[in-house]
Amino acid sequence: MINGVANGQPARKVFFFDIDNCLYSKSYKIHERMSELIDNYFQSHLGLDKEDATMLHQRYYKDYGLAIEGLVRHHKVDPLEYNAKVDDALPLEDIIEPNPDLRKLLEDIDRSKIKPWLFTNAYVNHAKRVVKLLQIEDMFEGVTFCDYGAEKLLCKPDPKMFEKAMQEAGAAHSGDCYFVDDSALNCRGAKAFGWNVAHLVEPGVKAPPERACDHQIANLAELRTIFSEAFKSP
Ligand SMILES: [Mg+2]
Repeated sequence: MINGVANGQPARKVFFFDIDNCLYSKSYKIHERMSELIDNYFQSHLGLDKEDATMLHQRYYKDYGLAIEGLVRHHKVDPLEYNAKVDDALPLEDIIEPNPDLRKLLEDIDRSKIKPWLFTNAYVNHAKRVVKLLQIEDMFEGVTFCDYGAEKLLCKPDPKMFEKAMQEAGAAHSGDCYFVDDSALNCRGAKAFGWNVAHLVEPGVKAPPERACDHQIANLAELRTIFSEAFKSP
């Protein structure tokens, strides 16, 4: 590939989509259900009472962006066992339904110019389960996830995680990357990395006092307007 041109065709840009609380609404309260399971895990594995478990869970979440990161760093917890007890134990089948509007939005992405790619801090099992239930698993060309089997956990907003996502998706320049995420922390990180970022803040969700990036949207349909060049013309 020379100057982003492969086989005479310019390389496609990549559109990275966060999954949780982004491809489905925060109102599903999956995060809350997950939090409960995480609290239970902290209680049973670290021998903490409910209050201390919740406190430590919140602290690790704030410090590392992922509760599991703190568990691995400080308590030598096996992330894959944790994943089985938390993410894989969520009754997602009862909660997540196919979303035709979302599917249409993804179908309208101009695939001759854009490669849609999943980008999550969850493990790959969870990522695949969610997009399957939303019936959009065929809309993406790949997934970059937090590898719970790795020696050291790497997750957004660590710049190395953005680098990994670009490598896996085959993006040459950070300016060639689009990204949507509901986490202000992740959006700030991606913007600092040079990506074109939209922060999803659903109605009823508190927005950060200072905008995380150039674009703040209330629903994914707004991507059609702010990143219109990524979609087929009507
Ligand atoms: Mg999210």
